[in-house]
Amino acid sequence: MSDASSHDLEIRQLRKSFGPNQVLKSINLTIRGGEFVGLMGPNGAGKSTLIKVLAGVYEATAGELQLGGRVVRSLADSPHVGFIHQDLGLVDGLTIAQNLSLGTPPKRLFGPILNKRAEREEAERALSRVGLDLPVDTLLADLTAGEKTLVAVARVMDRGARILVIDETTSTLPPADANRVIRSLAAAAEGGATVIMVTHKLAEILHATKRVVVLIDGELVRDAPTEGLDRAALVRMLMQHEMDVLDIDRGTSDKGAPEGVIELRDIRVGKVGPVNLRLDAGEVIGISGLPGSGLHDVAFVVNGTLRPDSGEVVLLRPGLRRALVPPHRESQGGFGELSVRENASVSALSRWRRLGLLIDPRRERRDCVEVAAELSVRPPSVDTPFEVLSGGNKQKVIFGRALLRRPDVYVLCEPTRGVDVGTRSEIYRLIRGLARDGAAVLVASSDAEDLFTVCDRVSLVVDGRLQPLRHISELSASELELMV
Ligand code: ADP
Ligand code: MG
Repeated sequence: MSDASSHDLEIRQLRKSFGPNQVLKSINLTIRGGEFVGLMGPNGAGKSTLIKVLAGVYEATAGELQLGGRVVRSLADSPHVGFIHQDLGLVDGLTIAQNLSLGTPPKRLFGPILNKRAEREEAERALSRVGLDLPVDTLLADLTAGEKTLVAVARVMDRGARILVIDETTSTLPPADANRVIRSLAAAAEGGATVIMVTHKLAEILHATKRVVVLIDGELVRDAPTEGLDRAALVRMLMQHEMDVLDIDRGTSDKGAPEGVIELRDIRVGKVGPVNLRLDAGEVIGISGLPGSGLHDVAFVVNGTLRPDSGEVVLLRPGLRRALVPPHRESQGGFGELSVRENASVSALSRWRRLGLLIDPRRERRDCVEVAAELSVRPPSVDTPFEVLSGGNKQKVIFGRALLRRPDVYVLCEPTRGVDVGTRSEIYRLIRGLARDGAAVLVASSDAEDLFTVCDRVSLVVDGRLQPLRHISELSASELELMV
């Protein structure tokens, strides 16, 4: 292996604009071979744009990149650099081994005879390097999201990457899977590889990285060693002003007798059941469970998008309205070519009808602008095409769509998945506000912080059973973390 300095990366006065929109404003950053750097910043700060410039997906508007002291157009041509984007670029219909060798020349014994055995052994070596213990002829489709990510990591490392660049790959993974990925990245860094990782998760930064770089509004505003930082210090770096993310007013009012809004009676759906659950006005109920527990199926049944195999969903209010924030917002959520406004208002159009027929465009626009501002959607214009928004901002728009329906019941799946620290606390405040205004809220989440921070009562799906609801005040932090 060549010495570490040949993997030094130097970013000088890098700028990137899209039309009049300056997304990166003169970034200067030096990363030495073997460093583990966490890149943080609010949704829309320009993190992915920076990484796409490094990857050669976008051309910089100005500035210079150097790798090992040599000026390069991008890092894409170097065999020593591997990128793992949110879309992993793997093929579900192929085996692990086939995915690992995708796009590389096949190993041949004599002329056209392929050396299957060599390919297999190489695949096994690649997997063991990331701590994945699976037969290499397993179909990719049969893997969990975390295992797929590990295959993607194994693939870039197998190709000799000594610099790994990872863009928010862990943010959509369940905690246990995310931990495995982080552990294998940390091991790669221990072995001398450079890791540059974009994440919103404070714990990942604190546990794995050696250095934190914060990007806000296209500017590199902080650069500090991780050692000596704690959660609060990280949050301050990210927010530019002090703010306690967890200080959310639960605001449980004296509601008198609880008013049931919707009830599940002996519901069975897929692997789950029987489920008995009543949602009350003014209360936030949290349900959690491991991936594959059927957690989101329960949520879909509450929303009416999934018909249960048996049992009864009882609507306890006439004309009851429900709204869903689905768990996979990139694939289940938005219409790329339409604007933010159109995406937000699509399921609430009846609200703006005049004389039962025509939409009142001024009121529609006003309400959308209001919701976009409430959720701090960036860029703020509601005429922005949905597809150019960053992942976190797409999620805010889908959230806004649920808000605009003004339903009696909100069903929120993984409400903070992939959003930055500031937005997370905004979403928490918002959810409490919904309950205060009398809505019934169901949060189906695998993130312990969601349950802690906004829910009044919580329960877990274990072995297909929804356990009895418990008040959050009865649970200790460690108990809850063990639950999830
Ligand atoms: P992050 O990854 O930090 O959340 P992004 O780099 O995805 O942020 O986006 C930064 C800004 O650049 C956003 O305002 C986004 O709308 C804008 N942007 C990103 N890609 C494009 C594009 N292809 N065309 C126009 N604007 C874009
Ligand atoms: Mg991004």
